[in-house]
Amino acid sequence: MANCDNISSIIDRRLFTEEDIKLMCKRLGKELTKEYAGKDLLVIGALKGAVFFLTDLVREMDVPLQMDFMDVSSYGDSMESSGKVRLDVDVQTDVKGRDVLIVEDIVDTGHTMKYMKDLLASRGANSVKCCALLNKTERRVDDVDVEYYGSIVENEFVVGYGLDLAGRYRNLPFVGVLKPEIIAKYTK
Ligand code: 5GP
Ligand code: MG
Ligand code: MG
Repeated sequence: MANCDNISSIIDRRLFTEEDIKLMCKRLGKELTKEYAGKDLLVIGALKGAVFFLTDLVREMDVPLQMDFMDVSSYGDSMESSGKVRLDVDVQTDVKGRDVLIVEDIVDTGHTMKYMKDLLASRGANSVKCCALLNKTERRVDDVDVEYYGSIVENEFVVGYGLDLAGRYRNLPFVGVLKPEIIAKYTK
């Protein structure tokens, strides 16, 4: 584990600045305001990575909405999806008849998003769509629609603005790529 005082020093390259992310939230907020006007919207944030994105996004949405959270894990502490998805924390809201928007940090293989969408649809939600900050389209394995996203990213591991490596670096205010020596420590 990197033991340093300045967490920015673990970053090799910044991909999205705070300003970039703010613009993404504004654009998505406008689109989602149109999509959900007049609907009974329930926004479900995927813990823990989507927390920063969700709080910024919903404040750009000019519609009444409720929020809930669920924690689904497929990665454990490693950087590769295990392919097995586990429900750690469930929502407390009855989703039957609701229009649900899942907010996620990043969709990679699609295992996690497919699991969440299928689960909420099976409980009788009226609609289940998703909005991810980032979309790693190249890595997709499961066929799942990502209706809204901030940006596509290449196949490299990113951290910050909610995205973690083994639970750390979520509090970086920007999204960046880790230095190779930091990645090496976790992939040994
Ligand atoms: P999937 O099930 O789509 O393969 O993976 C989804 C989850 O894997 C994401 O919610 C995220 O927690 C994690 N993940 C995928 N790619 C990255 C990445 O580049 N950086 C980080 N920090 N997490 C990622
Ligand atoms: Mg996640
Ligand atoms: Mg994670």
